[in-house]
Amino acid sequence: MKTVLVTRPLPQPVIAALAAAHKVAVRDETGPMSGDEMVAALRRFDAILPTIGDAFSAEIFAQAGQIRTRLLANFGVGYNHIDVAAASAHGIAVTNTPGVLTDTTADLALTLILMTARRAGEGERLLRAGGWTGWHPTQLMGMDVSGKVLGIVGMGRIGEAIARRGHFGFGMKVLFYNRSPKTPDLPARQVGSLAALAAACDVMVVAVPGGAETRHLIDADIFAAMKPTALFINIARGDVVDEAALIAALQAGGIAGAGLDVYEREPVVPEALTRMENVTLLPHLGSATLETRTAMGMLAADNILAFFAGKPLPSPV
Ligand code: NAP
Repeated sequence: MKTVLVTRPLPQPVIAALAAAHKVAVRDETGPMSGDEMVAALRRFDAILPTIGDAFSAEIFAQAGQIRTRLLANFGVGYNHIDVAAASAHGIAVTNTPGVLTDTTADLALTLILMTARRAGEGERLLRAGGWTGWHPTQLMGMDVSGKVLGIVGMGRIGEAIARRGHFGFGMKVLFYNRSPKTPDLPARQVGSLAALAAACDVMVVAVPGGAETRHLIDADIFAAMKPTALFINIARGDVVDEAALIAALQAGGIAGAGLDVYEREPVVPEALTRMENVTLLPHLGSATLETRTAMGMLAADNILAFFAGKPLPSPV
């Protein structure tokens, strides 16, 4: 029996699956672990099930010194908060939860697209504030999504699921930019440069992983290339976008609106964004359904169970 730390409360079936085989401690707090907590956990537990915000950096592994942990089974497909090379150098394996959250996250991208295009947040705020005086023909006119050009940045699992929804659900023409050549299972054309994609689309959605390689991939030049009528959507990671450049583009009318699920310094959301009516702001809800959060937890648990049973890891990083 091994010792396992789960760093946030998770759906009960996940804890039950782990507790059937190992000694499980569940951290009671919903916020990220402090440096001291991570160091103590690395010394004490055989496996840790961490998630977004638990910044397992090279410094933390170095500080921990005598490390007992052999596995970090991350809850989430994105693992840019873990220095995987440093973990590996300390003999620690890392796993994530790909696939099980793809559809749920793609659904949220469509939520942001539709809410922003149809001014849904603005309309709801107006109504709840008692400011709705009744229907009239030029009230809160938005933009049709059907038939428009959808630009996907990062045609991976989630990018393709968004593209599928856009194409089959809304008759959108799909263009995409991706690191390597891709042939997705739907009509879609790969574009050679990000600036060319930005110039060609009506709705641009970011779905690449976060981390050093993609930091500020979307910068002032990309916003400058976009049409003033275009919408910008980010469901990936906040650091992929230069948030100051996004705010400047919105303020200057360089783009028409934005829908965001992730932010550069979560949970801090710049006040400039909260003041803009043409921006939809969600609190990192991408995978937040009971079904998906349970499936993510079960996959993380499966990785831990497999690891200590000496079986192949279901989803190694
Ligand atoms: P994935 O299948 O690995 O897809 C990532 C795609 O991005 C791949 O096609 C990859 O290209 C491409 N890419 C990577 N670096 C790139 C670069 N520098 N330039 C252009 N394209 C690049 O991952 P996924 O399952 O779709 O998840 C994507 C990300 O979504 C996750 O890493 C996570 O951060 C984020 N996410 C957010 C939420 C949320 O709550 N908002 C939920 C789930 C996931 P290659 O073909 O070359 O590998």
